[in-house]
Amino acid sequence: MGRIPDEIIQRVRDQADIVELVGRSVALKRAGRSYKGLCPFHDEKTPSFHVNPDRGGYYCFGCQEGGDVFSFLMKVEGLAFVEAVRSLARDLGIEVPETGDGESKAEPVYRATELAQETYRECYAASGNDAARYWEGRGLSPEDAELFEVGFAPDAWDTVAKALGAARIATAMGEQAGLLAPRQRGDGHYDRLRGRLTFPIRDARGRVIGFGGRALGEDQEPKYLNTPESPVFRKREAFYGLPAALAPIRQHDRAVVVEGYFDRIALARAGVEEALATCGTSLTEGHARQLRRRTRNVVLLFDGDEAGLRAMERSLEVLLPAGLRVRAGLLPPGADPHDLLTREGPEALRAVVEEAPAALDFTIERAVARGIDTPWAKADAVASVAPLLAAIPSGVERSEFSRRLALAVGTEPRHVDDAVRAASRGEDARDAVPVTPRSLGPEARKLDLLARCLVEHPALAERIAAEEGEALLPAGPQRELICAVLEAGADFDVARAADRLDPEATDLLRRLAVDDHALEAAAAARTIDDTLRWLRQQRVRARQRELTQRLRSESADAQAILTEKERLQREKQAISHRNPERPMGTPV
Ligand SMILES: [Zn+2]
Repeated sequence: MGRIPDEIIQRVRDQADIVELVGRSVALKRAGRSYKGLCPFHDEKTPSFHVNPDRGGYYCFGCQEGGDVFSFLMKVEGLAFVEAVRSLARDLGIEVPETGDGESKAEPVYRATELAQETYRECYAASGNDAARYWEGRGLSPEDAELFEVGFAPDAWDTVAKALGAARIATAMGEQAGLLAPRQRGDGHYDRLRGRLTFPIRDARGRVIGFGGRALGEDQEPKYLNTPESPVFRKREAFYGLPAALAPIRQHDRAVVVEGYFDRIALARAGVEEALATCGTSLTEGHARQLRRRTRNVVLLFDGDEAGLRAMERSLEVLLPAGLRVRAGLLPPGADPHDLLTREGPEALRAVVEEAPAALDFTIERAVARGIDTPWAKADAVASVAPLLAAIPSGVERSEFSRRLALAVGTEPRHVDDAVRAASRGEDARDAVPVTPRSLGPEARKLDLLARCLVEHPALAERIAAEEGEALLPAGPQRELICAVLEAGADFDVARAADRLDPEATDLLRRLAVDDHALEAAAAARTIDDTLRWLRQQRVRARQRELTQRLRSESADAQAILTEKERLQREKQAISHRNPERPMGTPV
């Protein structure tokens, strides 16, 4: 087995820019002397993947994956060590002596696709071809054809097959690359793309992995044909527009995602170079992962009709769980980005992108537009949006959109929250039941509120201690949580407490801690006082009822009971008069 000389390996390692290499698949942000991003080797929502350019290494604190430029390339592209060295050396223009091994299985496939691209370009450059006529007929210039590297697959059966043969690339490689298909009858292969305008699809490193082809004949079907999946072309994560969009995505911290080749080209021509197009599939989780590593922000463009909205919502189902923030730009009816650019100019197209509102706002609007005039319609409207809300990992974002939905439908936010919780458990959101039955009555509600005041303002725990309020609290999760705050006082910490409480009290704590209507300290103090007073009165009333019961029994000492009742009556009055300027029952 031939080996690559050590000094060459060393040179490649020294010259390779690890930040640039990793940056092709991960959005990196400078953090002191190193860079940080989302780990490409495990799923995470907060970055724990570090790249250190001085040491030429990377390390993930989440999954302990670490290494150098070679190991990164090996892991990401599934290469052997020698393949990784060769691949990087080629990028850097460092010559590696041929040793007869170390060529990855993918290499000949890339050679085939690259050659096909050259061939399509040559055919396009020949005068009077159908592809150039079609291109220019759509109002696009020869310079744009050059820039976007479109090509022409002639309406012959063997253009690429011949080119591969002339370059001594095995037919099998052409077949693996998806360029050729075996003949049904007899031997030999024929070109898959024929009579089409071709679009090269590249990976993040700029290598051609596949092609899209637009039919040029009037009744040629299908209108768009892509080369099939191959060892290098995975449609579930491929984007047309890579790698040209990588730097713009970094720069604008945003990706614009469309469905068609011409859509992507129109956006790039309008100056929106961070645009990407899926290649003949709808958006998948693989696409979402690719996007999320590079940016958190995605803009989708869609047609305002029912089908467009449905497609947009399907994309949301995939993008929201990845933690992506999705906006949606509404195109004029019947117009794609290319039409809009042609008819109204680049500003109009840019405006659709720049002014795109949150995609969920469209969904909420549509749910409301279907009608909310009956209680059932309202429930249906909430239930139709709830699964999308449940998919949002960020509690803050989810609760804000839930609030918008509640407002739009005209119901209370807590009902939307219940529906979202049901949806996140995979249940029909219309069957949602509140997690803590709110029908528990005034006592449970008041205790909830008391607990919330204390969780938000633990320093107020003193008020309860001073009044010996602990004795007034009935057993239950609220009491447990309140006592935990009393114990910790001003040092109360939600995360630490959650570890020690029993599950019911932990649930309550979590529920209270995410409530985003902040309580003022003064209002919380008043609520605490009012609740303590109310609890005291409840205790007196319970005692009074008990005495009344006892009076009915024959053996009762009537005189003693009546004396006790009078004492309780005085106690009750004393409680009400403790705060004479605020009569009981005044809402806080
Ligand atoms: Zn990791």
